[in-house]
Amino acid sequence: MKQRLLFLGPPGAGKGTQAERLCASHGLMHLSTGDLLRAEVAASSPLGQEAAAVMNRGELVSDDLVLAIVEKQLNTQSGGWLLDGFPRTVIQAEALEQLLEQLKQPIQAVVLLELNDAVLIERLLSRGRADDNETVIRHRLEVYREKTAPLIDHYRHQGLLETVEAHGSIEAITSSIEAVLS
Ligand code: AMP
Repeated sequence: MKQRLLFLGPPGAGKGTQAERLCASHGLMHLSTGDLLRAEVAASSPLGQEAAAVMNRGELVSDDLVLAIVEKQLNTQSGGWLLDGFPRTVIQAEALEQLLEQLKQPIQAVVLLELNDAVLIERLLSRGRADDNETVIRHRLEVYREKTAPLIDHYRHQGLLETVEAHGSIEAITSSIEAVLS
């Protein structure tokens, strides 16, 4: 299976759940910028304090801040990885490409998890995270469409994009992802 992967898709599509399963069974590092940011918030670090308010509004934290976190993780990594929730802007994608060029570890595939809005909102509301009330959820979806969705064409043009329908059982979705990555 391919070893250097990105997950793209709206909030609630199941990126985190699928990333955990795939990384556990294929020995990849799971790098979730959302999880890393939430850990900083929980630890009340200066970085966490800066990020918390932005995250609770459903906005994106600054590209610089996220890039610093990702760079540190990738620089110490020699095996495969799966980036989940990053990049989320064209600027982040371009910075990532530069970094990976230096590391001589190009992306091998980008998996787009697709799901309709009604199901996304239902799933997010049942999750109960601090940034999961309906107003913030709708805003996160708008931010996704405006800032992150342009990455779909960006990676399609590079010939890296694989699309997976993200409804059905967790196990069936994992199998569909594995099939496009084999
Ligand atoms: P997630 O767990 O991926 O849904 O991320 C939760 C929140 O963390 C997002 O709504 C953003 O506020 C922030 N975040 C996570 N990843 C990024 C990123 N790559 N760029 C900017 N903000 C991010």
